Amino acid sequence: MSNLPDEAFRDTIGTIDEGGKRKYIFPKKPSGKFYDYRKWVSYVLLAILVANPFIKINGNQFMMFNILERRFNIFGFPFWPQDFYLFVISMLVGIVFIILFTVVFGRIFCGWICPQTIFLEMVFRRIEYWIDGDRGAQLRLSRQEWNSEKIRKRVIKWTVFFLISFGIANVFLAYLVGSDALFLMIEQGPISQASNFIALLIFTGVFYFVFVWFREQVCIIACPYGRLQGVLLDNKSINVAYDFVRGEKEEGRAKFNKKEDRATTGKGDCIDCHQCVHVCPMGIDIRNGTQLECTNCTACIDECDSIMDSVGLPKGLIRYASEDEIVKKEPFRFTARMKGYTAVLFILLSVFVGMLFLRADVQAIILRLPGQLFQHKGDKISNVYTYKIVNKTMKDYNDIHFELIDQKGDIKNVGSEHFKIIKEGISQGTLFIEIDQAILESDKTKVKIGVYNGNELLETTTTNFLGPRSFN
Ligand code: SF4
Ligand code: SF4
Repeated sequence: MSNLPDEAFRDTIGTIDEGGKRKYIFPKKPSGKFYDYRKWVSYVLLAILVANPFIKINGNQFMMFNILERRFNIFGFPFWPQDFYLFVISMLVGIVFIILFTVVFGRIFCGWICPQTIFLEMVFRRIEYWIDGDRGAQLRLSRQEWNSEKIRKRVIKWTVFFLISFGIANVFLAYLVGSDALFLMIEQGPISQASNFIALLIFTGVFYFVFVWFREQVCIIACPYGRLQGVLLDNKSINVAYDFVRGEKEEGRAKFNKKEDRATTGKGDCIDCHQCVHVCPMGIDIRNGTQLECTNCTACIDECDSIMDSVGLPKGLIRYASEDEIVKKEPFRFTARMKGYTAVLFILLSVFVGMLFLRADVQAIILRLPGQLFQHKGDKISNVYTYKIVNKTMKDYNDIHFELIDQKGDIKNVGSEHFKIIKEGISQGTLFIEIDQAILESDKTKVKIGVYNGNELLETTTTNFLGPRSFN
């Protein structure tokens, strides 16, 4: 391709000028088929994101990530530190899922699902267009002196942005400490819930900083996922791509001239209007090829389609396509690499779902007291144990007691035989197991213990029962 631009663009990023200073992006307001789809996707995802911490299932918050108290709820399933293995597997599933998706569909996650993109492009940016106007008006406003119009617009915009940042911070806090704690703070006031209120102010400040000033720098500098693109993408990955074969042809891109028959000139279909660059929220030129900054937001597809339409050329000069599809005209193929990732994902998902369903609502750990030998109590042998019962549910259990299963003998709990564990509570204590020496068959017997609430068996666990070596 003779007229392809040189590689100098790879030495700089579009948001830093030659002096090393931040170059603000004033992207043109996108419009078109993909933008409309993305709007609808963003409404659904925003509704889910905001609703998640306020929905309860069986009294459990639907989604909660209370790191300080080490309590996590995922899809209404409470996860405790004891369930950490499940949490690790769910993270692994998430990572493999994202890798698989990236290998096949490029950065579709960034453009359509990532909360940063959704909040920036579908909330803050749209308010900005509404207050400041489109690209041209925004550029003018940024250059003009601080007159009454600029002050008025800036005050309105920053106030609205602050309020939205405060709203997002509230939702974020509800994910972290739970919606009940958030409502308690609202009810009792910030003074009595000072730590949560300080956290709320810090989160508000961070969101305000990110969405007012830092913006696309999050994707370029801070996001580790963006950095992974270089290793995950290959020639078969589908990306938002410029069809340089068609766009450049033999003579390269050239301005549109309605008097000439472009098909006979050898000029490419790109009319070099720069509209795809002006609409790009990352400040890049997609015609330079796949770039780290590109979030696959599709704005340039819509823009170029409307340009192609206006000059009577076929749409799709910028489109979702793999490099091989553009260069070799190869249709999409499910490659061995993709199959491998899918198999790993399927196995991990199956393990995760299986573990989720096998997981008990009540977890019991019964261990022999270290350093204690068995004791003779008449005809019986007695061993002492410590127990810990974790109630992971949102209901109280009022009649908890232990029984031996498949083994004759008694369990004597120190304190009350029947006790209570409140919702999300833990009960710990000491118990004795006594078994007739006559029925012991070895010096180490595995015993199975049932944890009951009334007649309901909640959980079973096993432990060792020690006895004398010789039997009469
Ligand atoms: S919008 Fe389309 S025609 Fe215009 S410069 Fe970009 S690729 Fe070329
Ligand atoms: S190049 Fe296109 S898809 Fe990539 S960020 Fe810019 S406008 Fe979005």
